[in-house]
Amino acid sequence: MTEHRTRVDVGIVGGGPAGLMTALLLKRRGISAAVIETRTQEQIRHTQRAGILEAPTVNMLVEADVGSRVLTDGHEHEGTVLSFDGIQRRIDFQALVGRSVWLYPQNEVFHDLATAWQREGGEIHWAVTETTVEGIDTAAPQITFTDAQGQGRSIEADLIVGTDGSRSMCRKLIPEDVRTDHFISYPFAWFGILCEAPPTAPELIYANSEIGFALISQRNESVQRMYFQCDPDTDPEEWTEEAIFDHIQQVLGVDGEVQLKRGPIIEKTVLPFRSYVCDPLSHGRLVLAGDAGHTVPPTGAKGLNLAFSDVRALVPRVAEFFTELREQTPSAVVETPEPLRQYSRTALDRVWKAQNFSYWATNLLHRQPEENPFTHKRRRGEFDAITQSVHGQAYFADSYTGWSD
Ligand SMILES: Cc1cc2nc3c(=O)[nH]c(=O)nc-3n(C[C@H](O)[C@H](O)[C@H](O)COP(=O)(O)OP(=O)(O)OC[C@H]3O[C@@H](n4cnc5c(N)ncnc54)[C@H](O)[C@@H]3O)c2cc1C
Repeated sequence: MTEHRTRVDVGIVGGGPAGLMTALLLKRRGISAAVIETRTQEQIRHTQRAGILEAPTVNMLVEADVGSRVLTDGHEHEGTVLSFDGIQRRIDFQALVGRSVWLYPQNEVFHDLATAWQREGGEIHWAVTETTVEGIDTAAPQITFTDAQGQGRSIEADLIVGTDGSRSMCRKLIPEDVRTDHFISYPFAWFGILCEAPPTAPELIYANSEIGFALISQRNESVQRMYFQCDPDTDPEEWTEEAIFDHIQQVLGVDGEVQLKRGPIIEKTVLPFRSYVCDPLSHGRLVLAGDAGHTVPPTGAKGLNLAFSDVRALVPRVAEFFTELREQTPSAVVETPEPLRQYSRTALDRVWKAQNFSYWATNLLHRQPEENPFTHKRRRGEFDAITQSVHGQAYFADSYTGWSD
């Protein structure tokens, strides 16, 4: 039974980066919001996920006034290295498109956003259970849930924002005859490690060879993130530390100029690859943003950045919706308001560009199950066409660092 009721303008399901950034930016426009989240703050704070932020994502963090740690603790990367069969070619983002990316882990982004939201007295309920959302086809949608203390609660709002990640329950509220689920899976996954070692290289290295893909990334001076291509059903425990580092070194080239800095592995995960888009991203009084509406394979480093570009597209449309709402006579049943339809169209245009880049980069850089000498040499030809031409390099740099809105 619901014991506590809250009334706000916007109820937000999911306290990840998309949900918290939405809450903060709405508050800046005088629109009240409350957030619910199934995990604890500590759990999210210690989950390793994305690490590369596009310039517009960094600008949003700065403009949302969540503190400047992204600028002081983050690392600007003015380029990246693409490697094929041990041949390394650098893509100089700044020279090509005048933009950089920043290495700043997602869990730190989350920490900054959660700290800012709570410092400003924003309502958030961590570790909730039994979430339900009702009434998205009416003018009075509501979220009900059980809070961490076991009390039943409800949040009544004019609008619900579903930012509840890739397994979104909100998404399923859009009726099947309205919703198109575009989905593909890939025949490979990433084996990710965190290890205690100094950085192997100053910039990310995306490497491919006849045995598959590897990514050399960084976290800080003493902890590094690396990935290599594996089968989706790989058991991480079957790989010893030595076997993991030997394999990644082999992808980079055993006698090449990049020699791995090794150290104790403190985390091993297998990350399956999927591309998914929900169309539309709005229905009645519900909108979706971030992974709730779409997922990409991580090769193009687009997932977190897309979540933020959704929020950039969404917040002005929500403000428009509230302006119109206050001028209207309330009615019991609602059509999807035009500003929210417009949000869906704008966000999906960018999502499909990012889907294309993520899909293309994934196929360029990964060994395919049907790989043979022809397909490998064809991919090598594609790699040369991209990395030996200023136009090819510029395509990569423009897509990777993030298009303007
Ligand atoms: C291993 C890994 C590496 C990645 N690397 C990159 C990268 O390099 N670059 C990049 O840009 N992206 C990367 N991504 C993707 C990126 O992490 C996601 O795109 C990003 O987290 C999306 O943010 P979000 O807020 O939409 O979703 P999430 O961060 O998933 O947040 C959704 C939140 O909703 C909560 N939730 C779910 N259901 C409910 C419910 N019913 N009620 C309340 N709360 C709920 C969840 O607990 C979660 O905290 C990576 C992802 C993974 C897993």
